[in-house]
Amino acid sequence: MSRSSPSLDTLFTWVRTESPTSDRAGVNLMMDLVVAQMQDAPVAVERIPGTDGLGDVLVLRAGPQTGEPGILVMSHLDTVHPVGTVERDLPLRVEGDRLYGPGIYDMKGGAWFCLEAFKDVARRGTAARPITFLVTPDEEIGSPITRPMIEDIGRRSAFALVTEPARDGGQIVTARKGVGRFDVHVEGRPAHAGSRHKDGRNAVYEAARQILAVEGMTDYARGITTTVGMVSGGTAVNTIPQHCRFPVDLRVETVADGEAVTAALLGLKPQNPDFIVTVTGGMNRPPYERTEPTSRLFDHAKSLAAEIGFDLVSAPRAGGGSDGNFTAALGIPTLDGLGIDGDGAHTLQEYGLISSIAPRQKLMTRLLESLR
Ligand SMILES: [Zn+2]
Repeated sequence: MSRSSPSLDTLFTWVRTESPTSDRAGVNLMMDLVVAQMQDAPVAVERIPGTDGLGDVLVLRAGPQTGEPGILVMSHLDTVHPVGTVERDLPLRVEGDRLYGPGIYDMKGGAWFCLEAFKDVARRGTAARPITFLVTPDEEIGSPITRPMIEDIGRRSAFALVTEPARDGGQIVTARKGVGRFDVHVEGRPAHAGSRHKDGRNAVYEAARQILAVEGMTDYARGITTTVGMVSGGTAVNTIPQHCRFPVDLRVETVADGEAVTAALLGLKPQNPDFIVTVTGGMNRPPYERTEPTSRLFDHAKSLAAEIGFDLVSAPRAGGGSDGNFTAALGIPTLDGLGIDGDGAHTLQEYGLISSIAPRQKLMTRLLESLR
């Protein structure tokens, strides 16, 4: 595939069409491009209007309409990059095998070529099972509007394939940590820092104690991490603060650890009854644990890759969550990381490797044709 190939030009258009999750118009332009891509193919296109200010959802169906459990493929077209990134900070460009641009790696590259594979299989009528291709607008914020759809279609599916980017050297993903999100609010008592210091109850001070407790829940041996990445509190340098707030990011490897740490976080208590500590939140994405059926699905994909001419390797458990966590938690054999190879997700050095497109598109094609 060369720089001038017409199909790669389509991918350039995708990357130039900026689509941060919060930009409904931009995300919907991406959905328009997918609808256009499916024109003239025997694909049923259902477009569900987004809610909560988010973009639309596409449900694409093809293959034998037998009613048997099908194959669910999932791609998200929202990115983390604000509008203007492609003009200023991460211009679309090709350097050798690297194609740079916002969202190329996570995950427009993989979404695009897997949709091409889906379209080809639909046209040739070679699908092994009914295929549902779900194209979503909200993955980067935890899939608040599409999670019920993913779980609903997932329950009626035999396999789930996710086109998130590949890991170092084209590795795919068969396990991911679960992700929890929490908000902690500490309330104290305000007072003048000079004249009434003794009367104040400093919410920032109490929050500092709580943060030590939260960070202390990290246990690398069990793969548990807790992170306080932001803190806000106080109103003035000479006022004892009444309020302090901080979010907590939690990652776990097992459902049991998710439940245990969630209980510990929700049970945080002030060290002094003059303070009120309120914790909200919970697990957002359950852990994606590698099961026997997922291992068999991986082995099958590995043998297909060998026929195509490359070695498919499973990456160590990924720290980031994806929509694959939802289907894996339902017990659906799930393969993730089937998208483009490259690096720099969520950074201004994001790129995809052009040479990874053709073999991985072939792998997606063969999976859709052979998953019996
Ligand atoms: Zn992604």
